[in-house]
Amino acid sequence: MKITLLGCGTSVGVPALGGLGWGRCNPKNPKNRRQRSSVLIETNHVTILVDAGPDIRNQLLDAKVNKIDAVLLTHAHSDHTSGLAELRPFYFAHKSKVPIFSNIETLNVVERQFDFLFTKQSGSPSYFVPPMTLNKIGLGILEIGNCSIEVIKQNHGNIDSLGFIFNKKFAYSTDVVEMPEVNFDKLNNLDLWIVEALRDEPHEAHAHFNQTFHWIKRANPKKAVLTHLGWESDYDYIVSICPDNVYPGYDGMVVKV
Ligand SMILES: [Zn+2]
Ligand SMILES: [Zn+2]
Repeated sequence: MKITLLGCGTSVGVPALGGLGWGRCNPKNPKNRRQRSSVLIETNHVTILVDAGPDIRNQLLDAKVNKIDAVLLTHAHSDHTSGLAELRPFYFAHKSKVPIFSNIETLNVVERQFDFLFTKQSGSPSYFVPPMTLNKIGLGILEIGNCSIEVIKQNHGNIDSLGFIFNKKFAYSTDVVEMPEVNFDKLNNLDLWIVEALRDEPHEAHAHFNQTFHWIKRANPKKAVLTHLGWESDYDYIVSICPDNVYPGYDGMVVKV
């Protein structure tokens, strides 16, 4: 499996608009330029995208992705979903609707915001075909081609987010502030865990560094990579506080497991 961290930034990205800019991040380090969080998983047979935020078009162009077999959504926040309409060309090119998978809460929000992507609207042009489908998933195993994905539930403040474990080797856990105890059995001893850590200070909906380090120690992956990093979190600073085998993510990072 080839895993590409397409984006590792928090909801506003780094640098951020409105004068926040680079925050505490060194603008001279290219690894501090962070697009919104998203990850691509490629096996010999399938290409799976997790989340499609506002940067997704540039992220997929940079990664030279020409085909997507499935899109998994972790939750409905706009930094993870607002780029969905950018995926229309995958339908234009392959004439095969792009399947979107998530829990019912997320699908309901996405369907309301992007109705034209899933159902032909009365005002749509005659040639327009809705290019995507909505597919409800629950907890447990989801099979996409030769990829077996275990879906887990995480607490993200007011809502839940979904975590995904691919072929019992790699887990992706973003937008999580409390990791339910039941998940640790499934997260144990993986090859790679990409997991959220926003910043030093606690946050109501996002894990902070010490909390994530504690989870990683328990789950004991061979390697852990931090994502959803805030403008408070400079790359070299994170390197200086990371335990062994834990690394800050950066956009375009590739890991093979
Ligand atoms: Zn987010
Ligand atoms: Zn979120």
